[in-house]
Amino acid sequence: MNHARPKRRTVRVIEPHSRKPAVVSLIVAVISAFVVYTAWHMWQTEPPPPPVVRGLADVDLDWKCATGHRFRAKGQLSPRHCPRCAAEAEIVDRYDCVKHGSIEVAVRIEIDPAGVAVPGRFRIGDGDWAPAGEGPVCPHCQKLMRRPRRDPLDGRTRAGRRAPP
Ligand SMILES: [Zn+2]
Ligand SMILES: [Zn+2]
Repeated sequence: MNHARPKRRTVRVIEPHSRKPAVVSLIVAVISAFVVYTAWHMWQTEPPPPPVVRGLADVDLDWKCATGHRFRAKGQLSPRHCPRCAAEAEIVDRYDCVKHGSIEVAVRIEIDPAGVAVPGRFRIGDGDWAPAGEGPVCPHCQKLMRRPRRDPLDGRTRAGRRAPP
């Protein structure tokens, strides 16, 4: 009797192959973690300076206190206190009405969504603060006034456009 020994069916173990995706995703995860950590680390050690606020603080502006004293000081978002009487002072500027000439306007600066320092509110005389919109309006004829001079904050509107000279 020469019965051939039935061949044993071999079962392939395909484990190493099936493991590949898991290994790849582990590598990807490690690389991602490294990239995220590096970005975070760079961000931590070198925070980008806020250029707009620094720019505002570098500009000398005219200020006028509630008593009427005038002085020059750096720009800032909040009111200053008068160096002579300590009353609250606001930034003042002059705008031109084509009919009524030059009119003094108090200005509060704010930072727009694009990070640019722009006039946020205007006040004329003892009036109320009004949203800046396209610019202050003349108290006599309600027409939009223009700013005659040029400086780093000149002619900026809330829309970020520059008013024509
Ligand atoms: Zn004062
Ligand atoms: Zn006018």
